[in-house]
Amino acid sequence: VEAQNILSMNSVEVLYDNVMLAIKGVSVQVPTGGMIALLGSNGAGKSTTLKAISGLLKAERGRISRGEITFQGADITEALAQKRVEMGICHVIEGRRVFEHLTPDENLTAAAPHGMSRSTLNAEKDKIYGYFPRLAERKNSQAGYLSGGEQQMLAIGRALVTQPKLLMLDEPSLGLAPFLVEEIFGILQKINKDEGLSVLLVEQNALAALEIVSQGYLIENGRVVMHGTAEALKSNSDIQEFYLGGG
Ligand code: ATP
Repeated sequence: VEAQNILSMNSVEVLYDNVMLAIKGVSVQVPTGGMIALLGSNGAGKSTTLKAISGLLKAERGRISRGEITFQGADITEALAQKRVEMGICHVIEGRRVFEHLTPDENLTAAAPHGMSRSTLNAEKDKIYGYFPRLAERKNSQAGYLSGGEQQMLAIGRALVTQPKLLMLDEPSLGLAPFLVEEIFGILQKINKDEGLSVLLVEQNALAALEIVSQGYLIENGRVVMHGTAEALKSNSDIQEFYLGGG
């Protein structure tokens, strides 16, 4: 079973400041080459789950107090964040973090891992511009002047240039017009299919997320309260009422 899942999170608890129990025994599996969504409302524990996987808890005085996480069969529960990056775990945090004073092309160069050859970097860039033609058109303008959607595309491009094995995205649809959400999600689905890249998507926009993932986990109050195929979740009456805007 382990080999089929690139990521396996088992009964993980996260404590902030030694007192605040933010997630309370969360188990999530990401199949190799699969695309999975974590759904749920504000403060449910979705971002904390991603931080536990990428190792970004420490910066926020958080820690895993119970459970374990394995990536490609290796225990990474205590691994340093940098080590996890090197292993192929890439976490695009909430909000579009790009260097606004650099061009998109310079942003991609800056995101490239140490020691990546120029030819590999250029090949990666070409691939990214192929997936995101809008980004290609604007690759030499200042990133700060790009639209929100284009900046989100660039944030995803910056992640892809690191050649990750598992791409984790926190709320990529936030603040974007529906047509842009559809465009970006369509591209993510294409990258997942074409490259076999495993994707773990955190979304409050359940309607959009369930269109592209194979399975979803619903998180409430730090616990997984539902897990199923996208089809099963879409037809669930509670999900329809609370997360899909009535049904
Ligand atoms: P959002 O979409 O708003 O980020 P979320 O589902 O991602 O929501 P988390 O951000 O993981 O939820 O938050 C889960 C719980 O942990 C919340 O009660 C939140 O207040 C708390 N929390 C998050 N970060 C910290 C922190 N750095 N220190 C203390 N408590 C935190």
